[in-house]
Amino acid sequence: MTCQHCGTEISDKAIVCFRCGQSTSAPSAARPDARRRPAAQPLWLALTALLVLVAGGLYMARAASGQLPASVSYTVAALAAVVLVWRILKRRRT
Ligand SMILES: [Zn+2]
Repeated sequence: MTCQHCGTEISDKAIVCFRCGQSTSAPSAARPDARRRPAAQPLWLALTALLVLVAGGLYMARAASGQLPASVSYTVAALAAVVLVWRILKRRRT
């Protein structure tokens, strides 16, 4: 069988993996999402983030020409930054 932790081929009778030392008695379903985590994000999530960024850019362009109060542009800029950081963190986790 294969070690559930490091993937090394070990004896079927082995109690612990000779390589990483992890017990083999744990059920294989104990860590299912560690391997089957989807690589791609949902499409709507990417589209929503893109829309927010585009809208933020448009508002920033308007604010730059003085059509919006400064507080609005600051809020939109902060929102865009939060979305950007959130996206980066999400990407790092996967
Ligand atoms: Zn192992």
